[in-house]
Amino acid sequence: MLSLIKKRMSVRVRFAPSPTGALHIGGLRTALYNYLFAKSKGGKFILRIEDTDQNRKVEKAEAYIVEALNWSGLVPDEGPSVGGEYGPYRQSERKNIYRDHIEMLIEKGKAYYAFDTAEELSIIRTHYEEQKKTFKYGAHNRMQFNNSLTQKKEKTQELIETIPYVIRLKVEEGKTIKVEDGVRGFIETQSGEIDDKILLKADGMPTYHFANVVDDHLMEISHVIRGEEWLPSLPLHQMIYDAFEWTAPKFMHLPLILKPQGKGKLSKRDGEKMGFPVYPLQWENFEGFKERGFLPEALMNYLALLGWNPGTEEEIFKKEDLIKIFNPEKIQKGGAKFDFEKAKWVNHKFLEITAPKIILERFPEFLDYLPYDWSEKKRSDVYALLRDRLFLLNEFKVESELFWKDPKEYDSKVLDKILKHNPKKIISQFVRFAQEDIPVNEWKERIQKWNENEGLPFGAIMQSLRLAIVGNLSGPDIFNICEIIGNEITLVRLENFIIH
Ligand code: GLU
Repeated sequence: MLSLIKKRMSVRVRFAPSPTGALHIGGLRTALYNYLFAKSKGGKFILRIEDTDQNRKVEKAEAYIVEALNWSGLVPDEGPSVGGEYGPYRQSERKNIYRDHIEMLIEKGKAYYAFDTAEELSIIRTHYEEQKKTFKYGAHNRMQFNNSLTQKKEKTQELIETIPYVIRLKVEEGKTIKVEDGVRGFIETQSGEIDDKILLKADGMPTYHFANVVDDHLMEISHVIRGEEWLPSLPLHQMIYDAFEWTAPKFMHLPLILKPQGKGKLSKRDGEKMGFPVYPLQWENFEGFKERGFLPEALMNYLALLGWNPGTEEEIFKKEDLIKIFNPEKIQKGGAKFDFEKAKWVNHKFLEITAPKIILERFPEFLDYLPYDWSEKKRSDVYALLRDRLFLLNEFKVESELFWKDPKEYDSKVLDKILKHNPKKIISQFVRFAQEDIPVNEWKERIQKWNENEGLPFGAIMQSLRLAIVGNLSGPDIFNICEIIGNEITLVRLENFIIH
């Protein structure tokens, strides 16, 4: 008994995407909030694939969703690939379950067969539209149509066996439906505003609304956390729960993720136009956050703050911290503007706190540009020198070029400025140090000593050296660079400068 009560009380949430394409960051944020809520309550995070709409199903989308969740660290406790006690977790494999449940509703008189053809309904719809009205199949007119409420029992049976049909919910008239949303509070709807929604389609597949309610009940989902676009469906879902006499889970509808500028929902087009990703991983030829060089934990941190706030000024959180502090009461009502610069800043903070060794192990693809014969230590040293400058790991290629590409030209503006101090003469001193194998950490002191007689501005000396080694004034500490590229390459670059 106790274990039964415990089971009922435990938190079980689900992420229920339809495999109609890549997972958008809006969907990923929904998955994240579900995950954080489940983990903060010691509950379960379930993946359910809602693939009842065969026409919209996209090959590879399910695999993409699973891969994206894994990359993001949001690994489901139950789902199509991991299994679990409440499966199958793909709706297309639950047809019999829906069939049994629809029959329960028919027996209770809460649903009925409708035999009207699509053409018949379309003619009526057009007729209504011409009069600027919307057509609703419901309590006020259902007795005028061809359905099991208007046909005799035997005729109904004959029609079921011979022609395609749908099954509709029999919405009761004159009822007030009161639902509660954890983010927005109570919402009241009159049942007359809802038409007799189709629950089972002519192809034998359930509609989203029906399958969603049946599955959430059978999978013992305690909280439904999903996008705001589903809020208008909540009264209908409540009516389906009521028809079954089931207790509905608790609901939370998340605010939209908005475009960075202007109005409306963030779309792939915004990303294409403004040059930022909207998918976690590459989809077709559109790069994802992963390929741009986001650490998944940084993206999760950014997404967590996009529609929720911890109530403090703090902005950088590891996953364990997010789990500890995630409180759905702090989910905001209004839409959250996507800000790519902010996302990059969060990533930068994570690069700062992640040891170079870990980056090398987890993201070797971003360091592929370094010469293949470089040791692990050398790779790690270069990365450590550059990481403060990086916002995204894919910037590493350009930033690290000065280590593996000799300068082809020298910044003429800088050169003109220091020409009067005879930079070639300065560089010939450094050539001597290199030829004599003097360790780089002694160069500064030596050159200062040499300069005691010359009396040159020290800035001009350092600029000459940087120009010779890098070609311009960019890059990290110049002595560090010389040390990493090694004596031989340093010497080549110094000599090239003298003969150019
Ligand atoms: N299959 C729906 C979607 O992809 C799920 C909505 C829900 O979570 O209930 O948005």
